[in-house]
Amino acid sequence: MGIVIYGGTVVTMGNKGIIRDGAVVIEDDTVIDVGRSDEIKRKYPRYERIEAKGKVAMPGLINAHQHMAMSLLRGYADDYPLKEWLERWVWPIERHMTGYEIYVGSLLTAIESIMGGTTTINTMYHYIENYNEARAISESGLRGVVGHVCFSWRRDQDIKAIKELAGRWHGEADGKIRVSVDPHAPYTVDPKYMRELRDLTAELNEKYAFKKGQIVWHTHLAETEDEVQKIKNSFNIQVEASVVEYMDSLGVLAEDVIAAHCVYLTRRDIEILKLRGVKVVHNPISNLKLASGVSPVPDMFKAGVTVALGTDSPCSNNSADMFEVMKVAALLHKGVNRDPTVLPAEAVLRMATIDGAKALLWDDKIGSIEAGKKADIIIVDFRKPHLKPVYSEVSHLVYATKASDVETVIVNGRIIMENREIKTVRVNWVLEEVEKAREKLLDHVREGSK
Ligand SMILES: [Zn+2]
Repeated sequence: MGIVIYGGTVVTMGNKGIIRDGAVVIEDDTVIDVGRSDEIKRKYPRYERIEAKGKVAMPGLINAHQHMAMSLLRGYADDYPLKEWLERWVWPIERHMTGYEIYVGSLLTAIESIMGGTTTINTMYHYIENYNEARAISESGLRGVVGHVCFSWRRDQDIKAIKELAGRWHGEADGKIRVSVDPHAPYTVDPKYMRELRDLTAELNEKYAFKKGQIVWHTHLAETEDEVQKIKNSFNIQVEASVVEYMDSLGVLAEDVIAAHCVYLTRRDIEILKLRGVKVVHNPISNLKLASGVSPVPDMFKAGVTVALGTDSPCSNNSADMFEVMKVAALLHKGVNRDPTVLPAEAVLRMATIDGAKALLWDDKIGSIEAGKKADIIIVDFRKPHLKPVYSEVSHLVYATKASDVETVIVNGRIIMENREIKTVRVNWVLEEVEKAREKLLDHVREGSK
């Protein structure tokens, strides 16, 4: 037996557009029908019903760049430039994080994400057996792409971790979890290792991609202005042009590459990204907070590059709120371009849904509400003062909706939040464990500084 969501507005982000007094039919993990409420109710009389009058049903949001476990460091160090923030603050405390802390921090982000309408997360962190981000995603009922971040200084350890991660988790949790290979950045992964990771990805896909989906690449790219200099300093090599051209010269840019940030791009770089089919993830709040700069998203749009949206880590954001990210993305580019027509609401909503799915090479299954796709659906309650009156649902979803307006969250046909109550994990327990983890990490840092 299935579920019929009816009576509300369905914003499909697919070929049926927006259906007022619309309905969605879910059977097991899949959407089997989308249409007008009266027709659907007649066709499926015995299905369980969820009334959505005054509400909007839409595809779950896709957060295409995240480091879930870093919620443990939310507010630990703010207002520093990226290099100092990482080297002086984040990396020293992260050294003390065990798998358990990674798991607990990821559960915290999972809960926050669900409560804000995110149903898929693409996350890059350290994979540790038993307790890790994949386990947290699985237990929370979310969908996700989980990577293991790679650095030159720990090559052997990374390769072992990636192989374990792929073997244990790719295609797990009823197919809701996929894995990725994550070179941290062009300045922390040397050229030889970068190419090796490309070969490893091909090898893993040969082994696992069949029926389980593709293992993709997830990396940071052109986040700060000095990245070329950082590559030269790290590896003592000549880099003639931009960081994108350098990566292209290594032969690693391809349609399975998800490149976070892409703030510093030349015209030629944008052509290369389009030519290679690289997917870009724009993280406007993180870029603003770390004062990295403003990514030329409108230029990438013009060139036809797929651009998704992400929060980045909960300590460079400092939340996992994709509604906030959508609003900032829409406003930021209007402001810096002094042009209110760039990044219209519709385009921004696409970035957070169907374009996010394209970035993860998962758009055959998620990113829109269409028959045959997985049932990843959120219901947003529009019966609120800040969401009245309604002229355009899309406008409200980008400019006026808050994370707290999300009422119900369905992933793979399973209701994981109903009337704002999380069904999958014990929220209070997670909050307590997070406080304990904070104490423990601070104790380690204090000991280390003695
Ligand atoms: Zn990041």
